[in-house]
Amino acid sequence: PVADLDADAQVRADDRGHVFHSWSAQAMIDPLPVAGGAGSTFWDYAGKSYLDFSSQLVNLNLGHQHPDLVAAIQKQAGRLSTIAPAMANDVRGDLARRITEVAGDGFEKVFFTNGGADANENAVRMARLVTGRRKVLSAYRSYHGNTTTAIALTGDPRRWANEPADGSVAHFFGPYAYRSAFHSDSAEQESERALAHLEQTIILEGASTIGAIIMETVVGTNGVLAPPPGYLAGVRAICDKYGIVWIADEVMVGFGRIGEWFAFQAFGDDLPDLITFAKGVNSGYVPLGGVVISERIASHFDKISFPGGLTYSGHPLACAAGVATFEVFERDGILERVRDLGERVIAPRLRDMAERHPSIGEIRGQGLFWAIELVRDRETREPLVPFNAAGADAAPVAAVVAACKSEGLWPFTHFNRLHVAPPLVISEEELIRGLEIIDRALDVADGYTV
Ligand code: PLP
Repeated sequence: PVADLDADAQVRADDRGHVFHSWSAQAMIDPLPVAGGAGSTFWDYAGKSYLDFSSQLVNLNLGHQHPDLVAAIQKQAGRLSTIAPAMANDVRGDLARRITEVAGDGFEKVFFTNGGADANENAVRMARLVTGRRKVLSAYRSYHGNTTTAIALTGDPRRWANEPADGSVAHFFGPYAYRSAFHSDSAEQESERALAHLEQTIILEGASTIGAIIMETVVGTNGVLAPPPGYLAGVRAICDKYGIVWIADEVMVGFGRIGEWFAFQAFGDDLPDLITFAKGVNSGYVPLGGVVISERIASHFDKISFPGGLTYSGHPLACAAGVATFEVFERDGILERVRDLGERVIAPRLRDMAERHPSIGEIRGQGLFWAIELVRDRETREPLVPFNAAGADAAPVAAVVAACKSEGLWPFTHFNRLHVAPPLVISEEELIRGLEIIDRALDVADGYTV
């Protein structure tokens, strides 16, 4: 990277003048002008490089400018840049077949969308049509997207200013052993009690009114919360008992984030009815998401028309990048390397940090998806910053972020947590370097402990 301060000024001026940014008070932000990227690194116009421990929005699974993905998009652009969804298209069909093959037995078809929110939107629509019931349950600690039903399903504060978005949604507490809503003191107890709570919620909300339960298999932005032993099996059993569709939101964790094609595969043999995906399917090189549909639900629409569609459903450029993603994953053993790096490189280093830094309340995760939960006080588990902290309240975490950035690491933080979610192609040397930067930045967090 070389400095180009004129370009920096122009990009800043155009952005500040004319780009309206997501989730922001427009006058309060200062977006970094990015000049380029390669692999796990991107750089600004001042010539400073950042190691990306957030994979942008946890979507850049194969890193920036992966040559195979770039070549696949270029080749497809030269053959057929776009085609309406009503046509049959080679790369679209190829990608749909590959996705159903890795999803498991009984998954038959894929409905392609532009991203994760509309994948969830359409999955819920399918569940409502198949069951004839409108209500959907989702977890408080969740993010499902920014369209009408998806933001209503979202449990986190991004929902609040959008209410009421969809009146037929109710929330429940998912398992979270470190801050158990059920006063449990083991993973097994957390699993059992979270299932009992879910079933109680269903009974009180009216089982006959509930069409679907949607859950992030591993809760992403809201905590890297993996299901404890038995939880997914229990959800499957409850859904079967009450005739409810289980939608697994795999938008963030699908396609290798924890070392499986789909994250539910790491927690037993139980299969959801619908799987939603986006992000890692093609690392976001061209927007793409979708719903993987089990035979039972797909067949409902054999003779009844599905009332939904999108101009860019199954866009050839996006699908070509998806097919290339499969080829890279298989050729380069991406799933295996994710599991290996998680166990061998990240886990021992985070455990060691947790022993030395009083600000670490808990570390948890697997593959290339970890959370470091920061606290003021290990005894009381008081979070380092309050839930939904902003401004001055968020200063301790902002200071940790600044320490990371000053050393060239781009971190992912959410409330009182620092997440480790680098591209799946990150080298071992880069991974260790990034963890060492975090280790030093946590000295700043330690300064805020009691
Ligand atoms: N679901 C989950 C679990 C996500 O993490 C996200 C995005 O972060 C979404 C859905 C929404 O996806 P998109 O932003 O592509 O609409």
